[in-house]
Amino acid sequence: MIIVLLGPPGAGKGTQGDLLATRLGIPKIATGDVLRVAIKDGSKRGLEAKAFMDRGDLVPDAVILGILQDVMTSPQTAKGAILDGAVRTVPQAEGVARTLEEVGRKVDYVLLFDVEDDELVARLGGRTVCQECQTPYMGKLPGDKCNKCGGRLVRRKDDEPEAIRNRLSVYREQTKPVIGWYEGSGMKVLRIDATGAVDEVTARAVKALGA
Ligand code: AMP
Repeated sequence: MIIVLLGPPGAGKGTQGDLLATRLGIPKIATGDVLRVAIKDGSKRGLEAKAFMDRGDLVPDAVILGILQDVMTSPQTAKGAILDGAVRTVPQAEGVARTLEEVGRKVDYVLLFDVEDDELVARLGGRTVCQECQTPYMGKLPGDKCNKCGGRLVRRKDDEPEAIRNRLSVYREQTKPVIGWYEGSGMKVLRIDATGAVDEVTARAVKALGA
């Protein structure tokens, strides 16, 4: 089963993606996490991506499609995958559809996590993440320790106010059209109210998937 998670930055795609991945027994693939690891490793892909990410701009489609091609044709995703933030432009949606078609697969579900802008800004501005395992936290400070792996918590560069504003406008201009693209290709986009407690949102997503 292949599930695409759409929604603005801060909507909780990563958290919900992890919970759904555990529940469904398939891996979550977050291109943002793949890129952050590439930056940390100092790889060519990481070097190409870093400046775009720091500003809150999208990394070029060719880089993302390279990652998705590797991932979607690897045994790791043989049973399926949850694609978290991995489809952010119409060319990416087309590229993913093509890659999957080549291996006789397709996107089965598209989930759209909906949250108002004001709440997104508050969420992203108050977020820290573990620099080792990427787990996000609200209400913890940079320098605190991760509950999961003991890693150090940091504020992401792209969670600074100016980058947040840029990411939201990039979402409106480049990612929102992906919703229409899926609908136009005959896919039902399942809209999830992503406000409220984490487990309430998960319950809505599970119900929408009929899982
Ligand atoms: P995220 O962790 O999903 O918030 O992604 C962090 C940043 O990584 C984004 O602001 C982009 O710069 C980059 N990124 C992640 N996924 C993609 C994608 N599918 N297309 C373009 N850029 C991406």
